[in-house]
Amino acid sequence: MEWLDADGKTRHLTQARQFILAANAVQTARLLLNSTAKWAPDGIGNSSGLVGAGLSVKLSGYVSGVRAVSKGAPPGGPHSTVAFSDYYLHPDIPGQLGGIMYQANPVVDDDGRTVRVHVLAGDQPVERNRVRLAHQRDTWGIPKAVLDYRIHPRDGDRLRFLAQQATNLLHAAKVSRIRFEPTEFHRGSRHLHGTCRSGPDPKESVTTPDGRLHDVENVHVVDASLFPFAGGVNPVLTIQANALRIARNLSARPAAARPADPNCVD
Ligand SMILES: Cc1cc2nc3c(=O)[nH]c(=O)nc-3n(C[C@H](O)[C@H](O)[C@H](O)COP(=O)(O)OP(=O)(O)OC[C@H]3O[C@@H](n4cnc5c(N)ncnc54)[C@H](O)[C@@H]3O)c2cc1C
Repeated sequence: MEWLDADGKTRHLTQARQFILAANAVQTARLLLNSTAKWAPDGIGNSSGLVGAGLSVKLSGYVSGVRAVSKGAPPGGPHSTVAFSDYYLHPDIPGQLGGIMYQANPVVDDDGRTVRVHVLAGDQPVERNRVRLAHQRDTWGIPKAVLDYRIHPRDGDRLRFLAQQATNLLHAAKVSRIRFEPTEFHRGSRHLHGTCRSGPDPKESVTTPDGRLHDVENVHVVDASLFPFAGGVNPVLTIQANALRIARNLSARPAAARPADPNCVD
């Protein structure tokens, strides 16, 4: 493997029996797409053409309002103290898959207290939502990533459904001046998943269920790019559990001989 030092000048060659990618759903896909070889002209692990595809970012929005408080009332509690999973799986939600709602950012105003509920759900995995390489290059001369993302119509319906439940909740809590605040999640999100989706079929996925590239024996992906579906909760614990699972599987395997065939990265 050839890699560039952070100073951007020094190139190194490193040989290893196993390579682990954990650069996040955008950068892992970018790294694979930029890593071409004679036997992988479209990027390592990309014989299916799916590296970068299925980018998912979670759908989200805020519903907020104001609740009157008596003079001298103590300030609001700490951030995010209440969460509901009542609408995680629900027959009335389009597709029946919802997400969580949680209280976020209480702010004390002059005439009352702002109560804000964050609704969060997994977005529909769509092949055309993807990471691809840009014509533009970064300061090291490496092609940058471009993110293509359009909201699926079903996600718009699901967001409206969850926002309505949050609105009902705030009404019941005697909150007034209720309004929806978009998060513009489709323009960029803190939750990135799905660009090297795992699965049993090499034509439909980039990695095996154990995170190994279908095309290559000794490269594993352990970050959120593995997720075929983003899920409707914050992802870090699942990412960590998955990485641990893959690491345990790897360490239980007998050490492979130094790879010398086209199915291995050297
Ligand atoms: C402000 C904020 C708040 C969040 N809050 C929560 C939360 O409360 N709960 C929750 O579950 N999730 C939260 N998230 C989301 C969570 O942080 C991410 O989903 C998670 O960190 C993704 O893990 P990852 O391993 O896929 O990638 P990352 O954590 O992004 O790790 C990738 C690493 O690879 C490095 N890297 C990238 N490219 C290269 C390269 N070419 N060479 C070498 N290294 C490289 C990066 O520097 C980084 O260290 C939050 C995110 C943000 C931004």
